[in-house]
Amino acid sequence: MEDCCSNVKEIKNENNGICPSCKNKSKNVKLITLKSLLKPSALETLNAKENHYFCSNEVCDVVYFDTNTKKYLVSDIKVAVHQKDGSVTTPICYCFDWTKEKIKQYVKEGITPNPVEHIRENIKENRCGCEINNPQGSCCLGNVTKFINQFS
Ligand SMILES: [Zn+2]
Repeated sequence: MEDCCSNVKEIKNENNGICPSCKNKSKNVKLITLKSLLKPSALETLNAKENHYFCSNEVCDVVYFDTNTKKYLVSDIKVAVHQKDGSVTTPICYCFDWTKEKIKQYVKEGITPNPVEHIRENIKENRCGCEINNPQGSCCLGNVTKFINQFS
């Protein structure tokens, strides 16, 4: 049964990675990221056998969705999601708590450590845990750099 239908899953996956709500092309995230960041009420509905994706579109309310287009919204996540939340107290670097306002302040006033250098240093020492801390499930450095480029 499994074998004869083996290419069904492939076809299903090919159509995926497209947000069911906003049609944004979304990146695959590991299950551990959802397990870590979903509120209990959402976690208990998780379909652990499916592939999961992260929608980074700022105007879209969907944070994660799976291969069956089951959706997890902003309100299902324990933390504020950088890409979808303009609040100055929302982190961009979740591991070392660099919020938008703190990054802006340190860069503008030239306070040390510089956020990018500080994050790089901690990555080098293998201290970052993006998979379980950052809703996108991957390194924040690109987001931090992009944010700094917006005002400097
Ligand atoms: Zn979306």
